[in-house]
This record gives sequence, structure tokens and C-alpha cells, in this order.
Amino acid sequence: MEISIIGGGITGLTTALALHKRGIYSTVYEQADHLNEIGAGIWLQPNAVQVLRWLGIYDEVLSNGCILNKMEITYPNLCPIKKIQNHVVSDHHGNQTVAIHRGKLQQILYDQCAKLGIIELGMPYLHYETTDQHTTLHFKDKSVQTDIVLGADGIRSKVRESMKIASVYRPTGQICTRSVVTYNLPDHLKNEGKEVWGNKRRFGFSQLSDDSVYFFTVLNKEISPKSITKESLSKQFDDFDPIVASLINASGNMHTTELMDLKRLNTWHTSHACLLGDAAHATTPNMGQGACQGIEDAYYISDSLKKFKNPQEAFSVFEHQRRKKVDYVVNNSWRFGKLVHQRAGQLALRGMMKMTPEKVMSKQMNALYRVEGL
Ligand SMILES: Cc1cc2nc3c(=O)[nH]c(=O)nc-3n(C[C@H](O)[C@H](O)[C@H](O)COP(=O)(O)OP(=O)(O)OC[C@H]3O[C@@H](n4cnc5c(N)ncnc54)[C@H](O)[C@@H]3O)c2cc1C
Repeated sequence: MEISIIGGGITGLTTALALHKRGIYSTVYEQADHLNEIGAGIWLQPNAVQVLRWLGIYDEVLSNGCILNKMEITYPNLCPIKKIQNHVVSDHHGNQTVAIHRGKLQQILYDQCAKLGIIELGMPYLHYETTDQHTTLHFKDKSVQTDIVLGADGIRSKVRESMKIASVYRPTGQICTRSVVTYNLPDHLKNEGKEVWGNKRRFGFSQLSDDSVYFFTVLNKEISPKSITKESLSKQFDDFDPIVASLINASGNMHTTELMDLKRLNTWHTSHACLLGDAAHATTPNMGQGACQGIEDAYYISDSLKKFKNPQEAFSVFEHQRRKKVDYVVNNSWRFGKLVHQRAGQLALRGMMKMTPEKVMSKQMNALYRVEGL
């Protein structure tokens, strides 16, 4: 059985490794000619960490990243809105969140795939056609026959288009700027992820490696993305703790983008093709779960393809297993992002956070972090 994965992002690469771990051969086709360390930081929460451990690459990820044993939402002066114990943001095995440069993570995953000879770069996918016998994938410069197509080609998925699954993008009206800076946080902040809330503004940061820090800002779109510079950001956050200004001042390259997600798709699969990761369920980053959900997809689709000979049955079981959690993440992340950027909404969220008992929070987090069988 030939399995072709379109897209060598976090989801596609992890899926190829998960299939390999279960003794199933696949090939990843990535449009880029080479990987470069673009992007900023990413926070991998315990559900993703469990899958990376299962794949045997957690130690390498950790040696390139930084453990965050506290994730806090704070006021502009860095005082937490609600003090919570560290175990609330870890899973029942004690796994915690890991911050890593997105490019580093992708390189680790890519190196594993390259060692196994299961990835081809420079392969922009165009479309596929299917007969009773097989499916032919057409790339820019060549065509390949396959039995199964896994579309891990991101929010603007061409595989999704080929499958004729209608999709609607939902722009949030919020602009996110991200950067990685050479910086050392004071010791008491070294292992903490912070999201600092102001009026219609958010600033998040954490240490990423020994000498680098990742930060992001989220602003309402009334500020034009083109006008975002170091100077304008400094002004936006001038009433925040001074560490915020020093991080902005230390920044070089900044990536600015409007946040958006994908409206719930009617289905993720056909008889021979299935969507994974952002191609199926791109979410806003407010819960820091987009890539984590793609990594979970890798674990579950590999399990399903191992258990069921019939691809459609495998896809159907996979979609059934994944829908509930994915919908929860996408919907809550969307709502949360809207509320936190409105004065009354933020007030309500803060009140809710304060009132929710730690036990309840811990239960909710553990449900989010649960991966069956791990
Ligand atoms: C501001 C921001 C912050 C975020 N922070 C976090 C976080 O802290 N934690 C977290 O878990 N998630 C986070 N996310 C979400 C996360 O970035 C995405 O969910 C994740 O990168 C999706 O991975 P993917 O592999 O599914 O898709 P992508 O990363 O989009 O990868 C798709 C791959 O497919 C390739 N491709 C596309 N088209 C073709 C084609 N036609 N042919 C061949 N190849 C193709 C692309 O080149 C790319 O390599 C964040 C997102 C944003 C926007």
C-alpha cells in the first residue's frame, strides 16, 4: 500500500514518523527545495510531548528547547490573574510544556525522515486524479502513483481543493507579530511562559533556548499591519512591565500576520484521501494547540491505518476519534481570542478564571492533554 503525505510541515513529518514507528511505509512530498529556520517559537503542550516521547525524539527536542513549568496569564505588571500550581499545566505523567524554535523542531523531524529516506523536497503538489485501480498525484515536474493521499499541506491546502471539500477562512481582525531575540530572561522567569493582558493588547514570551527568547504580540486590526515596527510596538506596550520594552528593543526580524482559522469542515476524508493538521482544522493560536493537534493527528491516523485495511474505514474511525477534541480547541480558541480583546469580554474571562477552582482547571487540562494509549 503506497501512502503519500503532501506537506512536510510539523503534521506531515510527524505523521510519516508515526507510520514508520508502526511499520508502515510512506513518502512525504514537500514543495520547498530546502528547509530554512524561518518562523518564531512554538509552545508544545503535554499532549504533543507525549507523542514526541513515543516517537523517541523528545530528548532531542528538549535539548534544543526549554521546559516551561509554569504557564501564566498576567496583568501588565506580570502579576498573575490567578496563581496556579505547576501541576495544573502538566499531564498525569508529569509532562510539561516545551518551548522550541519552530525551525529547530521542523529540522529535527526532517532529519529523522531524511535518515529513513521517506521525504522528497522540491515537490509542489498540483492535483490528483483517481481511477478504480489507483490515484495519480501530479506535482510540478513529475507524477506519482499512490493508493492513499494524506493532505498535511496547511490551511490553504491544495489537497482539500482536489477533494472538493468546501472551506471558509475566518479572519479574526487581530494582528500577530512574532520574534525570536538573543536574550536571557532573569532566573525567576527562565522556565515560565507568560501571556500578559492589557486593553485590546496581548504580549506573550518565554525563554526558547539558553540564549534566545520568543515573544509575540496580538493587537486589534485597527492598527495597520504595515505600521508595525519596533517603535510602534514599544509605544503600544509602554505601560507593561519594562521587560516587555527590552524584548521589543532587542528584536531584529519580526513576522506579522493576521490571525485566522478554518470554519468547521463537513468532512475530512473521501475514500482514498484524508486531511490532517491545519489542512483539516486550522485554529487560532489562543490555546497554543494548533501544532499539538497536528501532532496528535499523526498518532491517531497511524493507529487507524495500522488497524484497518480499508482506508475509508481507517479515515472514518480517525475522524470520529479526533473531531470532539479538535472542535473544542477550535471553538474555544476562537471565542477566547474574541473576548480577550474586548474590555467587557476580558473582564468576564478574568472573573471566570478567578472563580474556577484549581481542581476543575486541572481536570480540563488533563482532558485536553489526554492521548489514548499513551
Ligand atoms: C501566531 C501563531 C502562533 C502559533 N503558536 C503555536 C503554539 O505555540 N503551539 C502550537 O501547538 N501551535 C501554534 N500555532 C499553530 C501551528 O503553527 C500550526 O497549527 C502548525 O504549524 C500546522 O502545521 P501543519 O504541518 O499542519 O501545517 P503547515 O505548518 O502549514 O505546513 C504545511 C506544509 O505543507 C507544505 N505545502 C503546502 N502546500 C503544498 C503543496 N502544494 N505541495 C507540497 N507541499 C505543500 C508547506 O510548504 C508546509 O511545509 C501557531 C500559529 C500561529 C499563526
